[in-house]
Amino acid sequence: MSDIETASGTVECPVCAQEVTLADVMQNEIVECEGCAGEFEVLTLNPFTLEELGEDDEDYGE
Ligand SMILES: [Zn+2]
Repeated sequence: MSDIETASGTVECPVCAQEVTLADVMQNEIVECEGCAGEFEVLTLNPFTLEELGEDDEDYGE
């Protein structure tokens, strides 16, 4: 169980729709979009989905 799953490919930025190239990224890795300079967490590898970081990233917990 020591294999680290990585994947390579491209995904459309959810913010600016620019194609973001991902090379050997792991799940939960943080990647940056060149188009909007946003940071995104890789939620899933196949297919790639990204989650934007930097806003509403903290729960307003009670
Ligand atoms: Zn972008």
